[in-house]
Amino acid sequence: MVTSIGGPRVLLRQLRETMAEPLASQERLDKIVSLIAENMRADVCSFYVLRDDGALELFATKGLAKESVHMTTLRLGEGLVGLIAAEAEPLSLDDAPSHPAFAYRPETGEDRYFAFLGVPVLRAGQTLGVLVVQNVERHKYGEDEIEAMLTTATILAEMIATSDFDNLIKPGSDIDLRRPRMYTGVSFTDGIALGSVVLHDPRVVVTNFIAEDTEQEKLRLESGLEKMRVSIDAMLDHGDMQPSSDHREILETYRMFANDRGWVHRLTEAIDNGLSAEAAVERVQNDTRARMLRQTDPYIRDRLHDLDDLANRLLRVLTGDGHALGRKELPENAILVARNMGPAELLEYDRTKLRGIVLEEGGATAHVAIVARSLGLVAVGQAQSIVSMCETGDEIIIDGTAGIVHLRPTPDIEQAYVDKVRVSARRRAHYAALKDKPSITKDGVDITLLHNSGLVADLPMLDDTGASGVGLFRTELQFMIASRLPRLPEQMELYAEAMAIAGDRPVVFRLLDIGGDKVLPYLRSAQEENPAMGYRSIRLGLDRPGLLRTQIRALLMAANGRPLKILVPMVTETFEFLQTRMVVQKEIERLRRAGKPTPSRLELGAMVEVPSLLFELDQLLPEADFVSIGSNDLVQFLTASDRANPRVSKNYDPIALPRLRAIRMVVEAAKRYNIPITMCGELAGKPLEALALMAIGMTRLSMGPASIGPIKEMVLNLDLKPIQQSVGAALSEGADGVTIRQLLQEWIKTQGLPVA
Ligand code: PEP
Ligand code: MG
Repeated sequence: MVTSIGGPRVLLRQLRETMAEPLASQERLDKIVSLIAENMRADVCSFYVLRDDGALELFATKGLAKESVHMTTLRLGEGLVGLIAAEAEPLSLDDAPSHPAFAYRPETGEDRYFAFLGVPVLRAGQTLGVLVVQNVERHKYGEDEIEAMLTTATILAEMIATSDFDNLIKPGSDIDLRRPRMYTGVSFTDGIALGSVVLHDPRVVVTNFIAEDTEQEKLRLESGLEKMRVSIDAMLDHGDMQPSSDHREILETYRMFANDRGWVHRLTEAIDNGLSAEAAVERVQNDTRARMLRQTDPYIRDRLHDLDDLANRLLRVLTGDGHALGRKELPENAILVARNMGPAELLEYDRTKLRGIVLEEGGATAHVAIVARSLGLVAVGQAQSIVSMCETGDEIIIDGTAGIVHLRPTPDIEQAYVDKVRVSARRRAHYAALKDKPSITKDGVDITLLHNSGLVADLPMLDDTGASGVGLFRTELQFMIASRLPRLPEQMELYAEAMAIAGDRPVVFRLLDIGGDKVLPYLRSAQEENPAMGYRSIRLGLDRPGLLRTQIRALLMAANGRPLKILVPMVTETFEFLQTRMVVQKEIERLRRAGKPTPSRLELGAMVEVPSLLFELDQLLPEADFVSIGSNDLVQFLTASDRANPRVSKNYDPIALPRLRAIRMVVEAAKRYNIPITMCGELAGKPLEALALMAIGMTRLSMGPASIGPIKEMVLNLDLKPIQQSVGAALSEGADGVTIRQLLQEWIKTQGLPVA
């Protein structure tokens, strides 16, 4: 049995000294492999680096033929080295040449060596290279040696990531870590953005890798773990914690991991091998990631996210590192990359510098996507594993239209997108030229196009798009950006400003729709299992009349004698609408008594977004001045699929027969009662879906400002009657196995309709 000299701690100390020496990169690597060979009593030590073309290039060796350095390569999966890189697992053999994967490279003279130990060099769970030791004599390297090699590999990984190896690697190649990568996700908003990555939750950079004093490092780890446990417990016990059950569940999982003996044991073991406490966290997390990344089970992948978060939390405690880049201060053309974030978190950033956002999770109707849209950001979701592959400052391109993200794009990709941006600028100019044209179909149907809005900043866009007004002003956005409940004068000021910018164009102010994923950090509320169906929106408003009254008062006062439109969200039963109307009437009376001006005309509308209301339209509609369909919630509740969870929501086409029938039911009922009906869910802003809505008789569509141009272009080129007939027939009689989507796609093709 061969044992190492002095153990890994001695080796790590030697490595640190070598790294501090003023050596050229190749010399340093040569010295490092010699030190490892000597310390492990190995005849050979070789270090391979994974290139961007998928080849593992021999970068340094002690023991193999020197001429083979930078000459010998193995493909991923080829030979023992390729196998280790592909599987991201150590491999220990006592007779390497007899292993079926052994690939003989004559130039290396490798066939004389029997004992073999190779370990992957990992960073963020991704293979960057392979480190190998070999001996002439047959013997098997044991657990201690594997552990020592893995520890050494952690240091080498950091070297690859931070050193300039470009002058060593074969000309024209790069190391794999900086390879351009493409992610196919889901489009949240159209458009193209070129910029640089800002990680929403930046990784902690570990600089101190090697322990000066092992006992001291163990104490640091213990106290770091304790601090982290205490903070998790405090978050769980905190009465103010938001009721989102997801949040709680994640914290419970953190607590479980933080107390997991296996995890703590592995961390301690890494310190015993000479790593600092923070390097030990990184090392253990690397192995765990590598193992979990190869799992396809979504549950395990979710747990990986939890573990990543926990490891990051612990690293922050240990390094005392806050966020590397303070929120809000951003470089120009910043593109936020995150696993996920809430709408309020997005609103915290400086909007003037932000161009786009990329998430690993999220659904197109999640509120963070809606807020991104209302801020005019290009956004893509479900770009899997992008967070671990990018660094703040990396170049990035988001193609929101195709749902594609290019990380570190090659110059030709970049050029292609620069050209595309030019084309889309031309298209925008074309849409701008349409803004003053009346929005009427070729066969004379008037289609009213409106904005969805929520911030004063996006209102001036009404002039650019030529929209007829604001069909949905989400008043909760003001509450979500604030650090405390906005008071009456602040609310009033916002509404007055919105009305002033809109001028003669109407603005439909929706009463506060908080709860669900629209979380107000400062509002205390009890924990709920199912917040989307919980204490939210008008339910909360009626239960906390102070909040509702203040908002209604602010709206009435802001109107200052002008007409006012108020929309009631999440009406489930007519009585909720009637109760809200009573609050409005009381506030009008109050104004009157005080001799203040009341709105010249007040219209109160109801959102139709809870399925039960569909079967109570004959009670609701005679009472309402107008209605607006919220397809985001309506479809979520009709299909029992969480709008923010793409795993389920993408399975159900919102314009499939059952959903479109439900929407038509509301449209027809509104016509019978002769009251205006608008669609203000995300469906209205997508050309094909908007066509489906027009085909069932909807003539008022409210959408993100960027959608007005493409929808208007379609309207202007549309003969509506024939498509109304075929969709009508399909809804009544079924469509012979053809979906509504297919039917519309076919129609768009045969009519040559411009659908962007
Ligand atoms: C909807 O549910 O479709 C809607 C417009 O409201 P929100 O997206 O704000 O819930
Ligand atoms: Mg809604």
